[in-house]
Amino acid sequence: MDKRKVALITGASRGIGRGIALEMAKKGFNIAGNATRLSSPDNKSGLLEVKKRAEELEAEFLPVQGDISDLDFHEKLIDEVMQKFGVIDVLVNNAGVAPLERKDMLETTPESFDRVLSINIRGAFFLTQKAARLMIELKQKSPDYRPCIVFISSVSAVLSSLSRAEYCISKAALSQAAHIYAHRLAGHGINVYEIRPGIIETDMTKSVKKKYDRLISEGFVPQKRWGTPEDVGKAVAALARGEFAYSTGAVIEVSGGMNIRMF
Ligand code: NAP
Repeated sequence: MDKRKVALITGASRGIGRGIALEMAKKGFNIAGNATRLSSPDNKSGLLEVKKRAEELEAEFLPVQGDISDLDFHEKLIDEVMQKFGVIDVLVNNAGVAPLERKDMLETTPESFDRVLSINIRGAFFLTQKAARLMIELKQKSPDYRPCIVFISSVSAVLSSLSRAEYCISKAALSQAAHIYAHRLAGHGINVYEIRPGIIETDMTKSVKKKYDRLISEGFVPQKRWGTPEDVGKAVAALARGEFAYSTGAVIEVSGGMNIRMF
């Protein structure tokens, strides 16, 4: 890439978002990374750690701390990125949470439902709305500008998990948000993609590691291994670099074949 493009990545402090940020830094992007915390208590992860790693890869990294479910924060987030870089070429809606406690859906509480949906879908939907308006404006000024938007959903968009219904529902909604944004923005030259990760080794899956180790060894994942944040990062970087220019609305599985229907 000649001039470094700019990617705004939510949830970039650890796990999949960190993997996306570092893969994109490697591929020549500058990064604005958002998360609720600048650093973890042990300083082993967090936006400042990712900034250091990205800078070692010669990328600029702007950390922007804030809660994506707070719609008032979105303006500050976009303003800070625009002040620093003057453009947003790629928005990656990655920030997401699992329920604090896995419970049978007959026990799901309204509080957990609201928490999960307000971060996983409401936050992403309205941040995308703001970013899309900005991208349309920038495109009118510069026809060569080719922005794109990526949603990180999950195989849970289509698979049922009885102990985290609110998570699956949020991901199904996010998948449809990607689909409709792709439709709405195609005429403006803004491509929108959905990446559907499977079982990825991060903090989110730590508490169920043993269960997933067993499922993976039993063939639940045809490729028989955990996914890594880098697997997802590489897919996002390929989309962001324009390698799938005629595929807006595409759903890319990064799940080791969990999408294969078998019997
Ligand atoms: P993770 O390790 O728990 O990391 C979550 C990231 O999101 C962190 O950077 C966290 O920041 C950020 N975040 C959480 N709530 C936020 C909020 N309200 N505002 C801004 N940032 C927030 O999770 P992960 O496994 O990397 O998951 C990343 C995305 O991939 C999620 O959308 C998840 O649903 C999806 N996904 C994960 C898997 C998997 O197996 N791990 C599979 C499919 C899809 P803080 O550090 O500040 O908390």
